Amino acid sequence: MKSLDLNRILMNDLPFHFLLEVGLRTMIMFVVILVTLRASGKRGIKQLSVFELVLIIGLGSAAGDPMFYEDVGLLPAFTVFTVVIMMYILITKLTDKVRWAEKLLEGKPEYLMKDGRLLYRTFKNSNLSRDELFSELRLQNVEHLGQVKSIVLETSGEFSVLFYDDDDIKPGLPIFPGEGLSAADTLEVVCNFCGQLSHGGIQQTCPECKEQEWRIPFYNKRIS
Ligand SMILES: [Zn+2]
Repeated sequence: MKSLDLNRILMNDLPFHFLLEVGLRTMIMFVVILVTLRASGKRGIKQLSVFELVLIIGLGSAAGDPMFYEDVGLLPAFTVFTVVIMMYILITKLTDKVRWAEKLLEGKPEYLMKDGRLLYRTFKNSNLSRDELFSELRLQNVEHLGQVKSIVLETSGEFSVLFYDDDDIKPGLPIFPGEGLSAADTLEVVCNFCGQLSHGGIQQTCPECKEQEWRIPFYNKRIS
């Protein structure tokens, strides 16, 4: 083998007219992908569950190779497509009927915050960073945690958020970067990590999450 051989680098020693075949193969596989995804019954995809990700990876890897490998035929790829999509439809039907199968495959929605309290343990187990959650809340016009009643982490990875009525808003941890002050000698303070409210001023450690930083809470209503 000769190094830096331009013809090999560009074309893997295949003739240039093979590019025409690549064009044709790609057009065919493009249509096959489109038809298969439509047949799966899925609409547009915003967030993928793990199960859907498997579908996409399965189809994706079978779709690419026959587009440009001269020694990979189209029919094996069609077979992969048919089998993957049949598995998908079959398992979707199964999970619709059997609840534990659904939990096993898709996971289940989980509360991250309930009745204004951040569920610290679930939150820690969810592989989700505090920054990600706060960023999502900021996008929903949340200024501090006291405005939020409940947050559910859906299996798609999206957040469902319920807000308090204006009259029920509690003193909360500000979540915009650089907002809010470290707690001084105020009586009402919130934990800088989990938002736990303390009426007795700064404590050594937060009873909820054991962090030691406290901030002055915000009290404002949510403007949306
Ligand atoms: Zn805390």
